[in-house]
Amino acid sequence: MPTALVLERQGELSLRDIALDQTLGDNDVRIRMEVVGICGSDVHYYTHGRIGPFVVNAPMVLGHEGAGTVIETGTGVKGLAAGDRVCVEPGVPDFTSRASKLGLYNLDPTLTFWATPPVHGCLTPEVVHPAALTFRLPDNVSFAEGAMVEPLAVGMQAAVKARITPGDRALVLGAGPIGIVVALAALAGGCAEVLIADPMEAKLDVAERYDGITALRAAGGTVSEQIAKATDFWGVDLVFECSGAGAAYDGIADLLRPGGALVLVGMPVKPVSVDIVALQAREIRIETVFRYANVYDRAIGLLASGKIDVKPLITETFDFAGSVAAFDRAAQGRPTDVKLQIRMR
Ligand code: ZN
Repeated sequence: MPTALVLERQGELSLRDIALDQTLGDNDVRIRMEVVGICGSDVHYYTHGRIGPFVVNAPMVLGHEGAGTVIETGTGVKGLAAGDRVCVEPGVPDFTSRASKLGLYNLDPTLTFWATPPVHGCLTPEVVHPAALTFRLPDNVSFAEGAMVEPLAVGMQAAVKARITPGDRALVLGAGPIGIVVALAALAGGCAEVLIADPMEAKLDVAERYDGITALRAAGGTVSEQIAKATDFWGVDLVFECSGAGAAYDGIADLLRPGGALVLVGMPVKPVSVDIVALQAREIRIETVFRYANVYDRAIGLLASGKIDVKPLITETFDFAGSVAAFDRAAQGRPTDVKLQIRMR
C-alpha cells in the first residue's frame, strides 16, 4: 500500500498507508510525484471539512498541484514516455460530454478533481492520470515551477475570460496567491499596468516585487479614491475580483470605466449583495471563472519563455515526511507565505 497524506476528517491529518486504485488504463500514465503545492482549498478542507457542497465524509488524500516524472505509459499513449518531466492538470472530465464538446470541459458535471471529495489527490509517491491531462515540462522549467502551473492556470483563465486589449489597465482585488497569479497572467496577456489592493501590507510587498504591479496601500486612501486619482476619474478597464470578500463588491462598479469588464475569480463563502444598476449604468461586462480549461500548455509556455516568473512566490519547501507540519504552517495563514510546497522525495 502506498503512503499518502490523508485528511481523515476535519482537523485531522495523517501520513499513513492507504489503499488506492492505481490501475494503469490504456490512455493513462503513471507518474512519480516530485513536488506538490499546498493550495488554499486543501487547507480549507483540513480546517473546515468542506467547501460548499463538497464535504469530507471519508478519508481523502490531499494535494492537486503536482509535478513529477512519467514512469510508465498505457498502451495507447502517444507523445509521452517514461522519463518525461511533467505537470498534471488535476480535473478529469468525460471528454465525450456536451460540456467537453463545447470546449468547456472544466464545467462537465461529471468532472472529477484531485482532492475534491470523494476523489483522492496527489500527495502520494505515485499517481495514475490520463495522458491527455499530463503536460511535458521544458528543461528550463523546474518541478517546483511545474507544480505552480495549477494555480497559474486560474490566472490564465481569468486573463482569457477578461479579453484583454493590449495596454489595458487592470485592478486586482486581493493579493493572495491567486490574486498575484492573476496579475501576472494579466500582464503577460497585454495589460500595461496592474494595480493590486489588499488590506494586508505584507501581501502587497510580495506582489510589488514584480515590475508592472503597483500596490494600492491603505495610506493612499480608499481603493476607489486611489483608482479615481490614478485614472482621472475614468476607471480601470478591468477589475479582477480575487478576494472572495463580500465587502469587495461595495462600489465595485465605480472602479471600472464605462464598458469595462469585471472578472469574478474569488469565491465568496456566502452570497453577496451587488448593486446591479450601478453595473448596468456602465454596461459592465461580467465574466466568471471556475478553474480553467485549455490553458496548461500556454501557462507552461509563459514560464519557459520567462514572461512569467513564479519562483518568487514559492515561500518554503517541506519534505514529504514533514507534510503534516507543512499543512499546520499553511493553516496559520501567514500573510508572507504565498506558496508552500512539499518535495516528495
Ligand atoms: Zn490549487
